[in-house]
Amino acid sequence: MPMVCFEITINGKKRIVAGASEIKAFKAAVSTDSRIDYVHFCVDGFIGTPRDGQHLEWINEQMKTGDRLEIRLIESEAPDLPRSKERIGREAKKGESVAHNDIICSFCGKGSEEVRQLIAGGPWVHICDECIILSKKILDEELDES
Ligand SMILES: [Zn+2]
Repeated sequence: MPMVCFEITINGKKRIVAGASEIKAFKAAVSTDSRIDYVHFCVDGFIGTPRDGQHLEWINEQMKTGDRLEIRLIESEAPDLPRSKERIGREAKKGESVAHNDIICSFCGKGSEEVRQLIAGGPWVHICDECIILSKKILDEELDES
């Protein structure tokens, strides 16, 4: 059965057709945080349940000013496979250290092989040791100012 998919074009270059059957919370989103110079474009969603499911991710990339993103809604029976599938459920409790090959930092997008440690903030979010250190610096500076 054809499903609604996102055809993603970045700076005029067609990149992927994202979609999967029975996908939930499927989104293509730009998120930004000026304090840590973070502008990311993410296309992801979930299948299954939060207790026993998978987080599927097609794109999670750093963007820069001037980048042009195009999201075209299309119907496709054979979208591209996600570049990462991460099992969600019991093993990623809050505060737990995780070391899966397919898990990436939700802030900087680095994979577990690029950082020393990834900590789960919940079943669907993780933060790496580098981003924790950076965040602490920002907090310390703000506390010094006040
Ligand atoms: Zn990080």
